[in-house]
Amino acid sequence: MLTSTIAAIATAPGPAGIAIVRISGPQAYQVAGRVFEPKNAARSLEKARGYTALFGYFVAEGRRKDEAVALCFRAPASYTGEDVVELSVHGGDVVAHQLLSACYRAGAEPAGAGEFTKRAFLSGKISLTQAEAVMELIHANGEQAAAAAHAAMEGALYRKIHQVTEQLTALASHIAAYTDYPEEDVPELSQKALEDTLTGADKQLADLIDQYAAGSILRRGVTTAIVGSPNVGKSTLMNLLSGWEKAIVTPIAGTTRDVVEQDVQLAGATLLLADTAGIRQTDDPVEAEGVRRSLRRFEDANLVLAVFDSSRPLEEEDRQLAARCAEKLAIAILNKTDLPRAMDFTACAAAFRKVITISANDPNDLTVVDEAVREVLQSAKIDPDAAILANERQLTCARTAHAALTDALSAAGQGYGLDAVSVCVDDALDALYQLTGEKASDVVIDEVFSRFCVGK
Ligand code: GDP
Repeated sequence: MLTSTIAAIATAPGPAGIAIVRISGPQAYQVAGRVFEPKNAARSLEKARGYTALFGYFVAEGRRKDEAVALCFRAPASYTGEDVVELSVHGGDVVAHQLLSACYRAGAEPAGAGEFTKRAFLSGKISLTQAEAVMELIHANGEQAAAAAHAAMEGALYRKIHQVTEQLTALASHIAAYTDYPEEDVPELSQKALEDTLTGADKQLADLIDQYAAGSILRRGVTTAIVGSPNVGKSTLMNLLSGWEKAIVTPIAGTTRDVVEQDVQLAGATLLLADTAGIRQTDDPVEAEGVRRSLRRFEDANLVLAVFDSSRPLEEEDRQLAARCAEKLAIAILNKTDLPRAMDFTACAAAFRKVITISANDPNDLTVVDEAVREVLQSAKIDPDAAILANERQLTCARTAHAALTDALSAAGQGYGLDAVSVCVDDALDALYQLTGEKASDVVIDEVFSRFCVGK
């Protein structure tokens, strides 16, 4: 039973327009009533209905400390499912902390990390995957990551898993009825129906597992390598994308000797950009090390921006780079279009998802790069509205369930009998209930919420 009433500051620290202290629990209205005085003396916070707001003052030690707004929610129609009052005062740390201390003196306890969301989960308002999505949304570092988190918050992943568990539960109960009550008139389970259900569920889980990598690109950012021969304008492009002069731009070939890194927001995603040393043969040992690092960075990259100097004829080095790019998700950027064109790129174009022409010196061309990246990343089938596994915990559960279904299929195929199939299906169901939190242990639940911030 959750009998305590908790309070925490729900807004980020530092000077700000407003700060919010959130109070949740059976005593939320009593606690709030001791620190809040309505401007209209005829009104009472303790008696306020859900979904109402009261204007008034934060009072402590017998004095008004600040103006305040109380926002009221009544159980179960609140974020946590309990009575909740949110008190807004002016932003900045001092008043917010005074208000929080006043709430403690009035009987509230300090909220633990993620405790509001944990209560929402424990009161059955949201599934564990939805709770995890809340955290994903808070930490989202790009539009696409935010959209994916929002889809999960709306229950996209939960519904997907639920579909699979429903099919498997129906199958398990059919098997149980058929094997446990042979005297009853339970219709026989055909081998085909059995295998079809198992294969269908198995495929849905396999798809989810396959999409995990794309989903984690969304969340962590797209590792992006800017590659190309020396002096083609890689550093200039990096500066164009990052909006400031981070890379050293000089007309001397081989200036960028190490990997210069920068995170930028582009095409609705975070690109973890690395401007690499030019990839070319060199006798200079320092530059050679830079080339080695560039190659490694190239191999690891989710996305490659290969830069060419369109004012020079195509060279052997360019052809080699294009050949390398054929294996990657790569965009060819023919740079320096402000100069007369001397490059015929036809022979190399097929190696790239997209070929664009820009002048990295021209800030207007940023949109050309943005659109190309957007197009190429979308063609990589990152669908933020789809159900996506959000973290390693969910991935592990999905893998366990998938492995159990593979076992069930082979047991069914080899005619081991329905008992063996039934055991494997139960294992799969167990793992899926752990994924959604319907059967997760306290240790797992504590671990999930410990990664939240206080106040959420
Ligand atoms: P990197 O070695 O590939 O990193 O090339 P840099 O970014 O250092 O650029 C090499 C030279 O090309 C510098 O003098 C840049 O000012 C110049 N440059 C880069 N982009 C353009 C462009 O679009 N047009 C012209 N005319 N010069 C450019």
